[in-house]
Amino acid sequence: MDKWKIMVVEDDAPVRHLITASLSAEDYTVIVAETAAAAVQLAATQNPDIILLDLGLPDGDGVDVIAKIRLWTETPIIVISARDEDTDKIEALDAGADDYLTKPFSVAELLARLRSTQRRLTHLAAGNSEAMFKNGDLIIDYAAGCAYLAGQELKLTPIEYRLLCLLAQNVGKVLTHKYITQKVWGVGWENNIASLRVFMATLRKKLEASPDSPTYIQTHIGVGYRMLKID
Ligand code: CA
Repeated sequence: MDKWKIMVVEDDAPVRHLITASLSAEDYTVIVAETAAAAVQLAATQNPDIILLDLGLPDGDGVDVIAKIRLWTETPIIVISARDEDTDKIEALDAGADDYLTKPFSVAELLARLRSTQRRLTHLAAGNSEAMFKNGDLIIDYAAGCAYLAGQELKLTPIEYRLLCLLAQNVGKVLTHKYITQKVWGVGWENNIASLRVFMATLRKKLEASPDSPTYIQTHIGVGYRMLKID
């Protein structure tokens, strides 16, 4: 396939150079924007495959860039931010970001996130999101309304099944507590995080070989959950 095209939005020159050099060395095509305005324009004209976006930009907030880009495309956006407060991450994810990295981060971690996003895109392009979902030993048969782990049917309650399907439909993406509770219980239940934890714990007991070091569902403390795409 053609090289993956990554758009890097970062006003801090040393960080930008580190990222672009690392990506070029890994054979990615890199395009660069230093401002929010340039980011929106380049996203529209250059069609990047994945966007790496710093939240603190000289002419605006990265969250506004996400909202604008989401008006026309679902291109994955990985937020890179020095701000390590959960509220910033949650705001960015709720605006439509897919994942986040907190500065300082290692190049290895950045590359791992990119590869995981590429796996998700490849998975979606292969049409796996249709009637049957497969990830590692997990299979969800949407038509039958059943989930299987290593060939054994999982005995899930209706809420556990909805949680599992929601995570699967967004595999690789961090979903915030608010997003999950709204989707599973409806608007008005956004603060129902205690219930979400309980259902997530019972789902994990059924899904994970060792619920304390999960393979499928990753916890983002204070933020939400993600189903990992397994090779
Ligand atoms: Ca910045």
